[in-house]
Amino acid sequence: MIVAEHLTKRYGGKTAVADLSFAVRPGVVTGFLGPNGAGKSTTMRMLVGLDEPTSGSITVDGQCYWDLPDPLRHVGVLVDAKAVHPGRSAYHHLLAIAQTHRIPAARVGEVLEMVGLSSVARKRAGGFSLGMGQRLGIAAALLGDPRVLVLDEPVNGLDPDGVLWIRRMLSDLAASGRTVFLSSHLMSELSLIADDLVVIGQGRLLASGSVSDVVSSVAPSTVRVVTPDAADLAAALQGADVTVTSPDRETLDVQGRSAREIGEFAGARGFTLHELTTRRISLEEAFMQITRNAVEYGTSQEVAR
Ligand code: ADP
Repeated sequence: MIVAEHLTKRYGGKTAVADLSFAVRPGVVTGFLGPNGAGKSTTMRMLVGLDEPTSGSITVDGQCYWDLPDPLRHVGVLVDAKAVHPGRSAYHHLLAIAQTHRIPAARVGEVLEMVGLSSVARKRAGGFSLGMGQRLGIAAALLGDPRVLVLDEPVNGLDPDGVLWIRRMLSDLAASGRTVFLSSHLMSELSLIADDLVVIGQGRLLASGSVSDVVSSVAPSTVRVVTPDAADLAAALQGADVTVTSPDRETLDVQGRSAREIGEFAGARGFTLHELTTRRISLEEAFMQITRNAVEYGTSQEVAR
């Protein structure tokens, strides 16, 4: 379990994270979503002890990172996949980490196998593609067989096969009771991988919950109705809990009633229908809606990045 409470980080006059509170539960994959500059890396850096909060706290299983008796065995971290000595082989990179953390050397072979790098284990990491580098970073995060995994933009640079691979791996790790927390600025990536979402913008919490709850919180589904009797049907449907808009003379967009309810309502009153379709906004549209204000009022630098 990861818990942030009123977490705030200021760099001089710049507030990177502002009064952020959320919880990440074990057993599911949680995506940490926000546009570039939203404060995701800063939050993750504070989570893994690379930076200190200005105020508030972020804890892992009730403890600050540096108070954990054996942090690497408790929390596996991928923050910067490029932080590898280019002349070192994948095997020696991992072995060096294992040796400094009292992890048996045999574990190195296991994690190389898990991430599919066994066949290139003796090759120089400097010659690795971006995707292979990500896999190596994930292997390092898994070395201590941690209960909690924190991955900053792990899907960055992976090809579609790599995305499938990471999805399978993270859901297996979550299914075994681990806490899995990964960041991305792309809703499309996270919607494939995550069960839950924490969405931030300009350092503030914008939404959290299951992916579908987050999406429906911003946009209830709309039913598109095409009928020659649009005006009469709209008048009949109108009510306190129903919103009807009419993009053209024969078309209605109805919120607050399901397609089935509208079909039965229209049938019982003799209205002719030419089309009746439920429309849900895409995950990407939902993300844009949630973060729109946060981006609009951001600095031009943040918007441009
Ligand atoms: P994200 O990971 O969501 O892209 P970051 O956490 O990297 O966002 O950055 C959040 C904001 O804090 C950005 O405006 C960034 O420029 C600023 N920031 C991050 N680290 C520093 C730092 N060390 N000094 C000053 N500003 C920083």
